[in-house]
Amino acid sequence: MSVQLLDGRKFAADLQSALRDECARLHAKPMLAVLQLGDAPATHLFAEAQRKLGAKLGISTHFVHLPDTASQAQVEAEIVKLNSDASVHGIFVQNPLPRQIDAQRISALIDPEKDVEGITPHHMARRFFAKARIGSCTALAVMALIESTGEALRGKEAVVVGNSEIVGRPVSMLLLDQLATVTICHIATNERGKLAEHVERAEVLVVAVGKAGIIKGSWVKPGAIVIDVGINVVNGHTVGDVEFDEASKRAKWITPVPGGVGPVTVTMVMKNTLEAFKQQRAHG
Ligand code: NAD
Repeated sequence: MSVQLLDGRKFAADLQSALRDECARLHAKPMLAVLQLGDAPATHLFAEAQRKLGAKLGISTHFVHLPDTASQAQVEAEIVKLNSDASVHGIFVQNPLPRQIDAQRISALIDPEKDVEGITPHHMARRFFAKARIGSCTALAVMALIESTGEALRGKEAVVVGNSEIVGRPVSMLLLDQLATVTICHIATNERGKLAEHVERAEVLVVAVGKAGIIKGSWVKPGAIVIDVGINVVNGHTVGDVEFDEASKRAKWITPVPGGVGPVTVTMVMKNTLEAFKQQRAHG
């Protein structure tokens, strides 16, 4: 059995072309506001990528920059401004936030109608009850790639490694919505030396840790779907959390890093902005 690559760039390009067509039929442009703190090169690269993608699709972008010394009150004041600005349809807060900022308080302040990352308590609760309309962009990207394999998830053994609020937990809930049997592993699973045991059972494996090669290729179950969310830079090269070459010999489907989940995630931000725009129009 030869492995099939889940090509995120190709998937994202198809999704982008559908979004561009839909935006072209609108009478107004959706607007995504991006709040960024600090001046790190990655922040600028990200802004440029968002701006370019928005321009390509017909979605305006508006960047709000604050210094990385900004106070909680300053950041909250910007969110309040964006909430009340009717020309802004989506709000994206770029992570990571500096240590002095309470990220949960910021998330809770965003108008749920403008929450394009699914990080407000409103969307988190809806996700818990399987009623989410807008979800974590990364989790949606993971699910879209899994669905693109055409394999049914019902009853499958799904193992998620990582339990963060933005990736591991939402992915787990979305897999549960499809009635997969979901196991969530995390740092303590590894501390007990149980990671391999769980991964070896996985028919669907999603890894979001941020440690290069933490998942050994030899642990991958033959025929598994492997989704590697991790992004790590090793000797100047971007790699995932899964040992790709070895895992490719066993998996049926696998995402490369780079070119897997990442391009789909950034496109999902735009898809969610369009959804938010349509909802806001519908609510007048
Ligand atoms: P995080 O640091 O918030 O969470 C990491 C998780 O890994 C935690 O649940 C922790 O318990 C677990 N963990 C840590 N060490 C472990 C170990 N040794 N064994 C097992 N579990 C362990 O990270 P995050 O925000 O969820 O991101 C995870 C990775 O995904 C990062 O590399 C990040 O850059 C990447 N990421 C990629 C995308 C994308 O679109 N491709 C989007 C978001 C995050």
